[in-house]
Amino acid sequence: MTIASNTWATAADAGSAATRLLIDGRWVEPQVPALRPTYDPGTGEVIGEVAQGGLADVDEAVRAARRAFDEGRWTKLSADRRGEILWRVADLIVANADEIGRLESRNMGNPVPHAIAMVLEAAAQFRYYAGWADKVHGRTVEIGPDERRVQGYTLREPIGVAGLIVPWNAPMISASKKLAPALAAGCTCVLKPANETPLTALWLGQLLQEAGVPDGVVNIVTGPGAVIGEALASHPLVDTVSFTGSTEVGRSIVTAATGNMKKLSLELGGKSPVIVLADADLETTIPGVADAIFRNTGQVCAAGTRLFVHRDVLDAVVEGVAEVGRRLNVGYGADPGVDLGPLISQKQLDRVSSYVESGIDEGARVVSGGSRIGTRGYFFEPTVIVDVDQSMRMMKEEIFGPVLGVMAFDDLETAVDLANDTIYGLASSIWSRDVATAHRLARRLRAGRVGINVHRAGGVYMPAGGYRESGWGRESGPEGLESFLETKSVVSLLDR
Ligand code: NAD
Repeated sequence: MTIASNTWATAADAGSAATRLLIDGRWVEPQVPALRPTYDPGTGEVIGEVAQGGLADVDEAVRAARRAFDEGRWTKLSADRRGEILWRVADLIVANADEIGRLESRNMGNPVPHAIAMVLEAAAQFRYYAGWADKVHGRTVEIGPDERRVQGYTLREPIGVAGLIVPWNAPMISASKKLAPALAAGCTCVLKPANETPLTALWLGQLLQEAGVPDGVVNIVTGPGAVIGEALASHPLVDTVSFTGSTEVGRSIVTAATGNMKKLSLELGGKSPVIVLADADLETTIPGVADAIFRNTGQVCAAGTRLFVHRDVLDAVVEGVAEVGRRLNVGYGADPGVDLGPLISQKQLDRVSSYVESGIDEGARVVSGGSRIGTRGYFFEPTVIVDVDQSMRMMKEEIFGPVLGVMAFDDLETAVDLANDTIYGLASSIWSRDVATAHRLARRLRAGRVGINVHRAGGVYMPAGGYRESGWGRESGPEGLESFLETKSVVSLLDR
């Protein structure tokens, strides 16, 4: 299935062209040639083969990024020129959004319109950080008593070579959330896409080249996480790793990174609470809460998986969300009118099913959904479960599927305690007409993001990241640059 070049005219070409790695501006085969099939989760069929890089390929890619950084291939361009190139990347993504979205849908399963919207969000990352490229400045400081005055200033410098490791649940956005700020900061990169969904990241590699990103500035190595990801995390020539994925793998990255004490930014798992107060506007709350859990078939780190509802409105909210779930059209991503696609794999289907079963075994009751749909592909019903408590596995651990656990509360103190009773702290939302109460509650939730009458909003403009075991650092917004920058203080005596 190998084709001669990585010039893709269509998504179908891309599906059959993932047999190469991008290293130092060239599309090359792994040093020990190896391929692994990649699948369409809507059918379980193979749609292409992906190069399985090894340790030698990671080493070559890191050395290419190191050379590109040390020679200043990227930073010697003026900051506004780098901004122009990033802007051009955004233009190219937009120009190809339809095809890239179709490919993303085929490889990841989500409905085509959602996939295209996510591709456009990826473009927005490049657009936003294009604007930052020439605005990364230090500050000036005057220090000391008159007789010994010191003039100080800070320089913000790119940290160097960045290893970027991303998951399968939103491939284009995850890769862009890291590449765009890393490049705006002046870093060079080695990107490792998830083995399940590498195709659009490889396409992005081609667009970066087309936009004028110099050779070696972005390298892409596909292959098994335990090999490629681990090698990047432990490589002595990598200065920082930005990782998005599970808390479990995040922990192993922390260990692997100790060799050269590289900096880490970790976007990890979540078990995000959604709190509905008695005065919430149920007409907007019910669809909002349903979207918080069911979007992308629940395969969202920030998904609102634990729902806490004031007892006065419990029955109305449970029945309303269950009804939205029953009406959602679950189907093949490319079919018209589909709301939710499949789960990514048989493994994920087994995982989601086992959490539902564990809940039932522990005494929970399924109000709607709870089962696989059909036998082809990995479809699962939007599921609402009640009679749960915080000690149950399904309420403690990340499921990463369309499964909602619901509990009642009688007072705000209990709601806050329930919401914060988790090892995670990624996102949350509060639904109420009482804005003052909602803002007071927002301060008490231990989560990196709080939505008020919305679960997800803010896009590239607002920093996102986790408290506690949901991670270290932030992506998006100006804060997204920090993982890729060092601060240098320069001081000199005045009056000499
Ligand atoms: P994962 O942790 O299994 O894999 C993430 C990436 O790490 C993949 O590229 C994988 O190949 C690689 N990897 C696997 N083992 C590795 C190792 N030992 N060393 C280095 N890299 C390794 O996660 P996943 O199943 O791909 O994605 C789902 C997880 O990602 C969920 O836990 C979800 O919450 C999390 N996630 C978090 C965010 C966020 O912003 N916080 C966003 C999306 C997904």
